[in-house]
Amino acid sequence: MSKSLQAIRGMNDILPEQTPLWRYFEGTVARLLDNYGYRQIRMPIVEFTELFKRSIGEVTDIVEKEMYTFDDRNGDSLTLRPEGTAACVRAVLEHGITGGGQVQKLWYIGPMFRHERPQKGRYRQFHQIGLEVFNLDGPDIDAELIVMTWRLWGELGLRDAVKLELNSLGTSESRGRYREALVAFLSAHQDKLDEDSQRRLKTNPLRVLDTKNADTQAVLVDAPKMADYLDDESRAHFEGLKARLDAVGIPYVINPKLVRGLDYYSKTVFEWVTDKLGAQGTVCAGGRYDGLVEQMGGKPTPGVGFAMGIERLVLMLEALDKVPEELSRQVDVYLCAFGEAAELAALSLSERIRDQLPNLRLQINAGAGSFKSQFKKADKSGALYALILGDDELAQQVVGFKPLRGQGEQQSIAWDALAAHLATCVVQG
Ligand code: ATP
Ligand code: MG
Repeated sequence: MSKSLQAIRGMNDILPEQTPLWRYFEGTVARLLDNYGYRQIRMPIVEFTELFKRSIGEVTDIVEKEMYTFDDRNGDSLTLRPEGTAACVRAVLEHGITGGGQVQKLWYIGPMFRHERPQKGRYRQFHQIGLEVFNLDGPDIDAELIVMTWRLWGELGLRDAVKLELNSLGTSESRGRYREALVAFLSAHQDKLDEDSQRRLKTNPLRVLDTKNADTQAVLVDAPKMADYLDDESRAHFEGLKARLDAVGIPYVINPKLVRGLDYYSKTVFEWVTDKLGAQGTVCAGGRYDGLVEQMGGKPTPGVGFAMGIERLVLMLEALDKVPEELSRQVDVYLCAFGEAAELAALSLSERIRDQLPNLRLQINAGAGSFKSQFKKADKSGALYALILGDDELAQQVVGFKPLRGQGEQQSIAWDALAAHLATCVVQG
């Protein structure tokens, strides 16, 4: 195939073999979010570039080197969204739905775009489910976010494979004091820092803490600790969160180096990480961003949120063999008809059955074919049962009912009794 007809590197098709697992995952999360009182919001995929520069921060990996930015035909600089929080904040401000302290518990799902080096678990178009809560500043809501994800891991069978890492970045005042101390310390050891960290020391010093460079990590062992700089408010907030996680029995580790890549976090930050995916170990990450809405031109509005990477979680479900078995079967019943008259009867019969059993996955044979070929297709469809309608059955107003997975003999069932019979032998999802 010529190059121009291939998908863009790092942007993947999700093929029909994979979509059942995606839908299972997305459906499980959506149901959970409904049950906890979150409402879905849908934002555009493209926004003004300025939005991301102002919210994510100019000196972050995303804004410095990962954004898909282009000029619109009228010369506006637009960017494919690299994450969801910025657009969500823009939307709530634009529609005034967080004004007067109104609480909003929102979630979104969709593709995000970052120009990164594609590898397992890291793509240029990837998909997130994220949520944002506005106008609640206590640790109770931070805890709810984490408790809800813990429940999700439980439902998916992933609890043993993920670990919660927690940190507090404090209020902007306490973070400012910490930053000064860190800069003083790192400046004294500047010659031992890797090149990236030397640059970050000037632009975004906290990010030096999450360096992957071993020499810089060795320097950091003696660096000042964020925990020692938290003010009383931040400390009480963090204790409140931990007390709630303890009450539910959710294990966590405090990771003082957890700072997150984006500029806008304050107080709580957390990541759910796994060692089952190699280097791309973070499956869900988030935190509190009490200053962001104001920074983007709104009234002071506390906020907290997280986003999870759907690809990574789908990979995990596969790697750990947690794909529910029923996903492999997409058809319950396959209806074969032989001859024109039988085909017509089969169509109206199948519509009657669908009226009575709206959740039945009934596939009707298309393209006619011999007994042998239709049976082959029925078997290949994965269906549990084949229904057979030929001239004899038509004359008697019955169908042949044939188990395809070895549960008994073929029998004859009257059209009128068919729905009731199917209801007893097909478990409907
Ligand atoms: P990482 O450290 O892995 O680059 P991040 O801190 O940049 O992650 P966030 O911006 O917090 O990621 O996004 C939340 C989640 O979205 C991540 O934890 C991850 O599961 C997923 N994610 C982020 N970038 C990608 C990507 N390029 N491909 C696939 N999933 C991604
Ligand atoms: Mg990243």
